[in-house]
Amino acid sequence: GQVMNGENQGGTVDQLLQARIDKAEKLVPSFDAARKSLPIYACRDALLDTIRDHQITIVVAQTGSGKTTQLPQYLHEAGFIANGQKVGCTQPRRVAAMSVAARVAEEMGMTLGDEVGYSIRFEDRTNHKTVLKYMTDGILLREFLTAPDLAGYAAIVIDEAHERTLNTDILFALIKDVARARPELRVVISSATLDAPKFSAYFDKAPIFYVPGRVHPVEIYYTPQPEANYLHAAITTCFQIHTTQPKGDILIFLTDQAEIEAAQENIQETARILGNKISELVICPIRTNLPSNQQAQVYEPTPEGARKVILTTDIAETSITIDGVVFVIDSGFVKQDSYNPRTGMSSLVTVPCSRASVDQRAECAGRVGPGKAFRLYTKRAFENELEATTVPEIQRTNMALTALSLKCLGIDDIIGFDFMDPPPAETVTRALELLYALGALNHRGELTELGHRMAEFPVNPELSKAIISSEKYSCTEEVLTIVSMLSESGSLFYRPKDKKVHAEQARKSFYHPAGDHFTLLNLWNRWSESNFSQQFCYEQFVHFKSLNRARAMRDQLIRLCDIIPVQKAIAAGYFYNTATLQGDGEYRTIKTGHGVYIDPSSSLSQHLPPVKTMLYHELVVTSKSYMRQVMEINPAWLLEVAPQYFKPEDVEGPDNGKK
Ligand code: ADP
Ligand code: MG
Repeated sequence: GQVMNGENQGGTVDQLLQARIDKAEKLVPSFDAARKSLPIYACRDALLDTIRDHQITIVVAQTGSGKTTQLPQYLHEAGFIANGQKVGCTQPRRVAAMSVAARVAEEMGMTLGDEVGYSIRFEDRTNHKTVLKYMTDGILLREFLTAPDLAGYAAIVIDEAHERTLNTDILFALIKDVARARPELRVVISSATLDAPKFSAYFDKAPIFYVPGRVHPVEIYYTPQPEANYLHAAITTCFQIHTTQPKGDILIFLTDQAEIEAAQENIQETARILGNKISELVICPIRTNLPSNQQAQVYEPTPEGARKVILTTDIAETSITIDGVVFVIDSGFVKQDSYNPRTGMSSLVTVPCSRASVDQRAECAGRVGPGKAFRLYTKRAFENELEATTVPEIQRTNMALTALSLKCLGIDDIIGFDFMDPPPAETVTRALELLYALGALNHRGELTELGHRMAEFPVNPELSKAIISSEKYSCTEEVLTIVSMLSESGSLFYRPKDKKVHAEQARKSFYHPAGDHFTLLNLWNRWSESNFSQQFCYEQFVHFKSLNRARAMRDQLIRLCDIIPVQKAIAAGYFYNTATLQGDGEYRTIKTGHGVYIDPSSSLSQHLPPVKTMLYHELVVTSKSYMRQVMEINPAWLLEVAPQYFKPEDVEGPDNGKK
């Protein structure tokens, strides 16, 4: 025991990690071989040289090359991480962040949540040991609010850049700015498509590194006539392939979970009727809310003599890679967020994919050998009706929450901000109008105190305003429940075919005369009385997973509602006792500028990254001045709790990174 302890304390995080990697490689040689067989491995050294020589590098490689799983590992192995820092890798989708982190932890022979972790909204599986952190782009955007210089990161990989989600586009602009202030920071922009020159131009001519892929030819088939019902056509095509084509798995692209479930039922039913006239079909639906290590079946080798049918949304286009696919069936459609700035209404609509995106889908058939892609639309439609590329989300979505975050970051001129593709001016105006109407901005367009508070909640401004207003009406618990339940996008109730009547009855038992918001509240209350049991959900025909997600969200919102007021209240009395980090463990008291340190016995003394702004209860002077009983505060609160004492320049100095 003791020797081990001694070693542990002696080694840096990196040395310890390296030792564990060496050990892991010995234990899991199969992963070592798998890693070395990926296309990106052939360019590892040249790639690392480019990254060393340039602050920002654009990497382009086909799906399955190893960008997501390998790049962060390479940066770590090559020693880009200084002590206490980490590599961050952003993903547009939650499932991808979770499943890739699980895979990388496995490759490195570590427990998920320690050295390799992930963070998504309402679930943070990282700790002080974490050196490789996968997260959604939304999470990194929120981290900018508290640490605008991203000091905790030595390198950032913005992955799936070609997807051009709203959050990724905003990150581009913020990172470009941080990079200027932190020359040692390394940034990798990773894309699966050939749109790299545009990225390079935006990032001041950053070099583009192309990783040669290994693709096999994919033959493309179109339907002679337009299909009235792509779901039906997909199922028919699936059985045609199964009965006439040699071995190889089938990947079917549909638009949402409901279609996936319908297709699954239908294929199972048809297979049952055909019985042993056909060989076995293994049906694997990809669930967008489960990490893929929990859908292990998708990654397991197909049993001898059987064929796997994987049902997916656009997530398998580039975000997650499934090996063994030889046949792709493509509906040609995708569910997309669409926003009309004139009416201010958002909706999810099924729209035709872009040519770039259906070509990505077809390529999925060519990873193991020559493949075939069956497109459920005509060649004419492909050539004449599909757009060349997908419109970036920033040009077709509501910007209210984003505008609030940007205002919080001190970016006043949103219309003139350095976007890669600017949002329509009308959308920005709408967003600012809404924020003004909610009271988050004043008539000069400046953030109000209410606006600051609203930005603390990771939910749409309408919801955060409702939460804050609930304090006035003394109904915070109820409003938090309703907000969390409303945030679950899909239906909470389900209705199996054979139990329609029972399911209807169960659903009606939750109805409330005051309306559906209260039905949700009823459902929550009864579930909580059952001790959050799964059995309850089963009996009442409610999705257990959805309720659990609502619960996780509610827990986080409660923490925000409960802890922040306590912190502010204490700050209202102790604003004299505040200090900001200077570096190397030293803090300087705000206004008086004395050098102080955190008491080593404090739970925050080893906190990584170090807390920026501290409030302390008392100072104890021994060899140094130590702060006892400390807590983190947001410096912006000081203006709220002690406006007579602090001026904006006291708390918005360069140390807080505000512009
Ligand atoms: P890229 O990001 O370039 O598309 P990835 O790094 O995601 O490529 O994947 C590289 C390889 O790692 C894939 O071909 C696949 O074999 C393997 N892989 C990735 N994720 C998983 C997983 N969750 N389970 C099993 N294998 C995986
Ligand atoms: Mg990837």
